[in-house]
Amino acid sequence: MKLHEYQSKKIFSLFGIPIPEGRVTAAAQEAARIAAELGGTVVIKSQVLVGGRGKAGGIRLAKSPREAEELATQVLAMEIKGLRVRKVLVEEAANIQSEIYLGITNDRAARMPVMMASSEGGVDIEEIAKKKPEKIARIHIDPLLGLREYQARDLAIRIDIPRANWRSFGQIAASLWRVYTTNDATLAEINPLVLSAEGELIALDGKMVLDTNALFRHPDLAEMRDLDVEAEAEIEARKYGLTYIKLDGDIGCMVNGAGLAMATMDIIKHFGGKPANFLDIGGGANAEKVAAALRIILSDPAVNAVLLNIFGGITRGDEVAKGILAALEKVETDVPMVIRLVGTNAKEGLQLLADANMVTSETLAGAAKKAVHSAAADG
Ligand code: GDP
Ligand code: MN
Repeated sequence: MKLHEYQSKKIFSLFGIPIPEGRVTAAAQEAARIAAELGGTVVIKSQVLVGGRGKAGGIRLAKSPREAEELATQVLAMEIKGLRVRKVLVEEAANIQSEIYLGITNDRAARMPVMMASSEGGVDIEEIAKKKPEKIARIHIDPLLGLREYQARDLAIRIDIPRANWRSFGQIAASLWRVYTTNDATLAEINPLVLSAEGELIALDGKMVLDTNALFRHPDLAEMRDLDVEAEAEIEARKYGLTYIKLDGDIGCMVNGAGLAMATMDIIKHFGGKPANFLDIGGGANAEKVAAALRIILSDPAVNAVLLNIFGGITRGDEVAKGILAALEKVETDVPMVIRLVGTNAKEGLQLLADANMVTSETLAGAAKKAVHSAAADG
């Protein structure tokens, strides 16, 4: 889950990282008011969950409250990389002397978080990584020890930060590490961290990506989720505790268990089909959950056939069958469905489905073949 710049910077600030003064708003008149409060030149920053806003014209400097209102009106009418701008951050503008990159992410290969710094901040770090890899300094952080003072100093020296700023750079790096661990982030990034004409280090931009699996530990962060960027079906799925990811094929899949879902998708491919989604209804799913899952699958117009593969353990076959039948009472559909059901109460479940004239199969291979065949006939 990505956080907006204003949200990331608020967190940065709570952990002691200096940020410019400012406020977020959805109204252009309010932008003028904020500009008047701040005085002097302000920067109007579009809040969308993509990078490269500067290049897209979503970051503008305003010299007066009137200009702030004008530019805020323009920016609030923008769409950047397909995302509507709904809010702008109005901040006092900084006198930039140089732009630094500073970020932490997980280095999977090293099995450790890595802190990266570069004197070439401000632009895409991916670009620098490709064209001038020697310009990025890296240090790995032992999660048990945390970021050590000497490591931060080492980075400061390697990216030529003036000696007078070593101390504040060290504090910012230490704070960013605390931001990263305390919030279960998978990315915490300041780009640019600027050295101002006044000789101070300030975080001008902020980006955080949170580990969704750890969100339950951070209800306050979970509330910051911007639903705008997520597909409607995925939001609906989350409401019912389903894991749903839309894919580009035409065979809808409903499976209990992530591993079984992967295997099901592999088998569909093996028989020449393409899955339309990944959907794990989880262990112990009841009729209500099954019904929601089926509604979500069928809401995708690309779906030409549905394959249900349920391995009954805690999940009971008759509950699954009841869920399927309940869902079909509400959603009208002529999409063919094939059901493979084994395990606890499978016999009762299969009976219920057979009574309703549904296509069933005892083996996964058989069910997958039928689904692929139906999709091809239908599509
Ligand atoms: P991004 O393009 O989405 O990464 O947005 P940023 O917040 O990083 O801004 C992009 C660029 O706009 C920065 O690298 C700066 O060069 C410039 N910029 C942002 N804020 C200010 C500011 O307060 N003053 C000045 N002069 N430039 C700014
Ligand atoms: Mn940036």
